[in-house]
Amino acid sequence: MSKIKILDHCVLCGKCAENYPNTFKLNPEGPKIEVINENIDEALEASDMCPVSAIKVEE
Ligand code: SF4
Repeated sequence: MSKIKILDHCVLCGKCAENYPNTFKLNPEGPKIEVINENIDEALEASDMCPVSAIKVEE
């Protein structure tokens, strides 16, 4: 099970996918952010950067 979760209040600003394209991807059909790689280190950095704290990482 994924340890990286995008919470429902994500505002789709795209920052996580822009800065960490190997871990997050914007699915325009959703639209929503998908976790495409279980890269915990990148997810933690992205979580710090997310303007609405919508990236949850379980360590
Ligand atoms: S940085 Fe946060 S608000 Fe922006 S798209 Fe990613 S999860 Fe959503």
